[in-house]
Amino acid sequence: MAQRPDVMERMKSRVIPVDPFDLVIFGGTGDLARRKILPGLFRRFCAGQMPGDARIVGAARSEMDNSAFRDMVREAIIEFGDADAAATSHLDDFLACIHYIAIDAKGDQGWAELQTLMAGEGRVEAYYFSVGPSLFGDLAERLQKWGMADEKARIVVEKPFGRDLATAQDLNATLATYFDEHQIYRIDHYLGKETVQNLMAVRFGNMLFEPLWNSQYVDHIQITVAETVGVGGRGEYYDKSGAMRDMVQNHLMQLLCLIAMEPPARFDPDAVRDEKLKVIRALDPVDHHHVVRGQYQAEPLNEAAHPGYRTAVGDARSRTESFIALKTHISNWRWAGTPFYLRTGKRMSARSSEITVVFKETPHSIFGEEAGRHRNVLSIRLQPNEGITLGVTIKEPGPGGMRLIDVPLDMTFAEALGDEGDQVDAYERLIMDVIRGNQTLFMRGDEVEAAWAWTDPIIESWEARHDVPKPYESGSDGPTDSIEMMRRDGRQWREVSP
Ligand code: NAP
Repeated sequence: MAQRPDVMERMKSRVIPVDPFDLVIFGGTGDLARRKILPGLFRRFCAGQMPGDARIVGAARSEMDNSAFRDMVREAIIEFGDADAAATSHLDDFLACIHYIAIDAKGDQGWAELQTLMAGEGRVEAYYFSVGPSLFGDLAERLQKWGMADEKARIVVEKPFGRDLATAQDLNATLATYFDEHQIYRIDHYLGKETVQNLMAVRFGNMLFEPLWNSQYVDHIQITVAETVGVGGRGEYYDKSGAMRDMVQNHLMQLLCLIAMEPPARFDPDAVRDEKLKVIRALDPVDHHHVVRGQYQAEPLNEAAHPGYRTAVGDARSRTESFIALKTHISNWRWAGTPFYLRTGKRMSARSSEITVVFKETPHSIFGEEAGRHRNVLSIRLQPNEGITLGVTIKEPGPGGMRLIDVPLDMTFAEALGDEGDQVDAYERLIMDVIRGNQTLFMRGDEVEAAWAWTDPIIESWEARHDVPKPYESGSDGPTDSIEMMRRDGRQWREVSP
């Protein structure tokens, strides 16, 4: 997104620069680094948050010098970041902070050079593990072996964090051999989204909502993360994972926690994460009758460009789900009796992530049954058009008597706050939090394990039954069974709108 110079100047005057830091990006030549991490850092640099003497070190096996890596970073920023700002002198200043070391996570190549570069006192040291999870343990071990796993080191660990409880426990144990929990930043970029933090601000910064935030007033809650893309080039990885592991266990679960948790005593990392953990531990096991799994089909007139799931992953008998919808409950005083419906999938009708709180109907209509019963619906949109909308019932204007209609009280951030409403991408916010040493928006080890402990039996149940996902049309909102699951409960999914 292009930023106007006046907006950039205003942002600069408001941001508080972080302390000088060295950030090593293992996997610095990879997709995530090029699409998100490096353009995000550049935006923080332009905003004046990243100090000019910070150093960013790309590290991967490919042989190249600083100059070649800087060219790669320049191209990535132009392609995935802010092409306008990239045309300014900011980019050359930013590139002067960039270094590259060819390093092998599994060998000794490059580690002595990195050790020399990182020697020195007084700077924050962060190591971003933007490599496949099979290398996390190797990196942690070598950081210690080469003397870099000291007290001032922080590591950032990408998803997936395990593929079940046992592997997550193993990974936690491996990382704990070299680092304390307060040094480990498990990233879930959903937590870095502006709306997700606003969800906490809305809940705990207003008197209006919290008294109604319970099963007495809330009929049900829906969380939908819909994507229009298919598995693309990630077919091999995705087919071993599926929507449950790739999306529900982490992103949707985190959103569920934030919407359902008790008010933490303080907005500090452990207070918030303690409350999230209690939610996960209070989740009911999910009966397989309350789970719908699906696989998208080819687009009929465009099969070559948009193949079906099984063709895309190259396995004609794949039983991995590209869509999942499920119903669960939270067994505690606040939420007993309120269902939570979660849904996520690929090749759906629109790209949209939204949390919807559907309140109960008024207990009695003074306007007569013909005026209809209405529900307030609070919708929290994560993407696109981040914002919050509250559906309120009012009188239909005009002389036609007392007829009721629902109108949205709309706070789309971009409209309410101007360009400044969505300046900061999730990754850049989270990286700055790492530098500041703030773990509030990162998952703690016990949270991740609790999430797998809830997820594992659901997956085991369909594996034991050799469950085959239901086919669904590309561009639809999943198998009809998902709609049926809601209909059985007298409810319906909120429309997936772009
Ligand atoms: P990728 O494009 O395959 O990049 C992998 C990076 O790791 C490359 O820079 C590669 O460079 C480097 N690498 C591989 N083996 C290495 C070794 N032995 N020693 C040192 N470096 C090595 O992967 P990615 O998509 O960027 O994903 C990175 C991580 O982020 C993964 O854990 C992924 O699950 C996670 N993630 C990615 C995305 C995304 O949008 N891409 C989103 C969420 C999470 P060389 O081959 O030159 O060594």
